[in-house]
Amino acid sequence: MPVRTIVTAEAPVLRQKAKRIKQFSQSLQALIDDMFETLHAANGVGLAAPQVGVSLRAVVIEIPADDETGTPAQSYVLCNPEIVKSSGEDTDDEGCLSLPGYVGEVTRAAVVTVKGFSPEGKPVRVKGEGLLARALQHELDHLDGVLFIDRLESLEKLRRVGEAEEEAPGS
Ligand SMILES: [Zn+2]
Repeated sequence: MPVRTIVTAEAPVLRQKAKRIKQFSQSLQALIDDMFETLHAANGVGLAAPQVGVSLRAVVIEIPADDETGTPAQSYVLCNPEIVKSSGEDTDDEGCLSLPGYVGEVTRAAVVTVKGFSPEGKPVRVKGEGLLARALQHELDHLDGVLFIDRLESLEKLRRVGEAEEEAPGS
């Protein structure tokens, strides 16, 4: 399971509408495995296939364990995902593994329900709030060629962060 290279903002693949997955094959499973490896290596929360240079509608998300509540880490894989329900509004700092070193405040829905498929082609449904809701919306945006900087009030709202003071988890 090799770690793949995460492409950065200037890569054209990040601005393309990713293709629907038609075959739930072993090579798709291998891609998903690599995406998790890559996500872990980058210490990120979420990764979309276009971020590793593959124009397919697949995303992986891993919400870290919460020591305060004792909640273990939660992993999600979604192929051909679609938001079917969203409600509320939440504004928070957001970063992206394809834009290292930058964060900015983005307003998104507070709660979302996403349906899609597992890598085996089985229907899945994920309802998320908080960080999961934000990660789902951020990763699904990647499949349509949208970056979080497109959702800032203005580019002046983009802030530079040092490695040591990283505030928002990248996705
Ligand atoms: Zn991103």
